[in-house]
Amino acid sequence: MTQTADDILKNLDLTAAELSGGSRAVRSPIDGSTLAEVHDTAASEMPAILERAQSAFKAWRVVPAPRRGELIRLLGEELRAAKDDLGALVSWEAGKITSEGLGEVQEMIDICDFAVGLSRQLYGLTIASERPGHSMRETWHPSGPVGVISAFNFPVAVWSWNAALAIVCGDPVIWKPSEKTPLTALACTKIFERAVNRFDDDAPEGLLQTLIGDAELGKVLVASPSVPVISATGSTRMGRAVAPVVAERFGKCILELGGNNAMIVAPSADLEMAVRAIVFSAVGTAGQRCTSLRRLIVHNSIREDLVKRLKAAYAGLPVGDPQAEGTLVGPLVDEAAGDAMTSALKAAESEGGTVHGGARVTEGVPAGGVYMAPAIVEMPGQSASVKEETFAPILYVMGYDDFEDAVEMQNDVPQGLSSCVFTLNMREAESFLTAAGSDCGIANVNIGPSGAEIGGAFGGEKETGGGRESGSDAWKSYMRRQTNTVNYSAELPLAQGVKFDI
Ligand code: NAD
Repeated sequence: MTQTADDILKNLDLTAAELSGGSRAVRSPIDGSTLAEVHDTAASEMPAILERAQSAFKAWRVVPAPRRGELIRLLGEELRAAKDDLGALVSWEAGKITSEGLGEVQEMIDICDFAVGLSRQLYGLTIASERPGHSMRETWHPSGPVGVISAFNFPVAVWSWNAALAIVCGDPVIWKPSEKTPLTALACTKIFERAVNRFDDDAPEGLLQTLIGDAELGKVLVASPSVPVISATGSTRMGRAVAPVVAERFGKCILELGGNNAMIVAPSADLEMAVRAIVFSAVGTAGQRCTSLRRLIVHNSIREDLVKRLKAAYAGLPVGDPQAEGTLVGPLVDEAAGDAMTSALKAAESEGGTVHGGARVTEGVPAGGVYMAPAIVEMPGQSASVKEETFAPILYVMGYDDFEDAVEMQNDVPQGLSSCVFTLNMREAESFLTAAGSDCGIANVNIGPSGAEIGGAFGGEKETGGGRESGSDAWKSYMRRQTNTVNYSAELPLAQGVKFDI
C-alpha cells in the first residue's frame, strides 16, 4: 500500500512543529493538496547563520580530507536506508513518477560514493622550478562556506552534488532550496543529521544549514561576502540576477541554468533506439529536466517516418498519477507551468508550426493537478519560440539535408547544456564531438541528452552559465588553489634571471 505523505514525513524525522503553523503552504503537484505549512527562515536570522558557517569552516578545514570523506560515507549509508521514503517524498512534492523519485536518490548515493573516493584524491601538482634548489607545487585548500541555491525539478540530487563535494573539500554548506520543494530539503537535512550523529564528535555545528524561503532570501545569501562560492541552479533569469551580485563582491559562481537540448537524427540512425531515447528524454519528468529533449533535428529523408513512429509512441503514453504503477508522464509543477506550455504551443502555431497533442488532460488523472498531454510540434524552421526553454513536454521537430547545417542549427540557440546525435556514421559521430561540432557542455552519441551519470562533469555553456558540478574535476570549484615555491638552497636566485644585488 502506498504510504501517505504524513507517514513518510514522520519516517524522515520531521516533526509536527516543523510541518504546521508556518506561513509557507507546500502543495503537491499531484493533486494540489497542502502537504504542510512550513516556517520561513527570517532574513534577520542570516547574520547568525553566516557566523555559524564561518565557525564551522574554521573547524572543518583542518579535519583531514579522508576523515571528511567518512562523514559523506555515512551520509551515503543513511541515504540508502532512507531511499524509499525520500524517493516517495520527491514524488509527492515535485510530482515525479516513482522510479524517477527513487532514481534521484540513487544519484545522491552515487555522488556520495564518488566524493568518498575523492576525499583521498584532492591532488595538486608538482611543478618544475626554473631556479636551482627550488621546488614548486600546487595545493588545494578549502574555500569557505558554499551557498547552494537549487531548483524545484531536482529537489534533492542537486543539493547532494554540491554538498557531498563541498564537504569533502572542507567547506560548510548553506542551502536555499526552491520555495516549491522545502519538505524534501528539510528531509535531507534530517538525513544529514543522522550521519553527523554517527560521526563521533568532530563535525562542527553549522556544517549544513538549510534556509526556507523564496528568491528574496536567496538574494541575501548571494550578497553575503562571507560566502565565497555560490552554486546556483535554476532558470537563466535567476543566473542573470545572481552572477553580477557575486561578481561585484569577487565571489565565485557555479551557474547551472536553463537548457534547450537537441538531438540530430541522421539517415543511418537505428530508429527504434532513437524513438526510445527521444520519448524518454522529451517526456520524462514531464519535460521538466534541464536536460529534457526539446529540439529534434531530423534528416528530411527519414523525417516523415520518424514523426509517424513518435506520434504512435506518444498516443500510448500513460499520463496521470505519478505514484500509480505504469504512469510515465506525471503532472507539471503548477498552473503557471501549464499556462506556459499552452502559450508556447500557440506561439509555435503562429510561427507556422503544426501541433500534435499538448492539451490539458482532465480525465483519469487526480483532480487538482496540472496534467498535459506531451506535444510534438512540426516546425518549418528554428523560429523564436523554439529558441526559448519552455519547461514542459514540448518537442519541436525540424528537418535538415546537410549534416553541417544540422550541427549549426543545434548550436544556434542561446543555451548550451546537452546535445546528442543518433547515427551509425563514424564521421558524423566523431565530428559532432570536435571543436567544430556541438557547442554544449554535454555531447552524446546514440543516447539521449538527459539522464547523465555522476562521473562526468555536469553543466553547459552560453546562457546555461558555464558551471560544472558532480564528477571529473568539478571539485576544484569548491577549493582555492595555491602555488607554493620553496627555496631549499643557500642562494636567492630571482625568476626570469633578474639581477637585484644590494
Ligand atoms: P528558478 O530560477 O525559478 O528558481 C531556482 C532557485 O533560484 C530557487 O531556489 C529560487 O528561489 C532561487 N532564486 C530565484 N531568483 C533568485 C535571485 N535573484 N537570487 C537568489 N536566488 C534566486 O528555477 P525553477 O523554476 O525552480 O527551475 C527550473 C529551471 O532550472 C529551468 O530553467 C531548468 O533548466 C533549470 N535547471 C538547470 C539545471 C542545470 O543543471 N543546468 C538543473 C535543474 C534545473
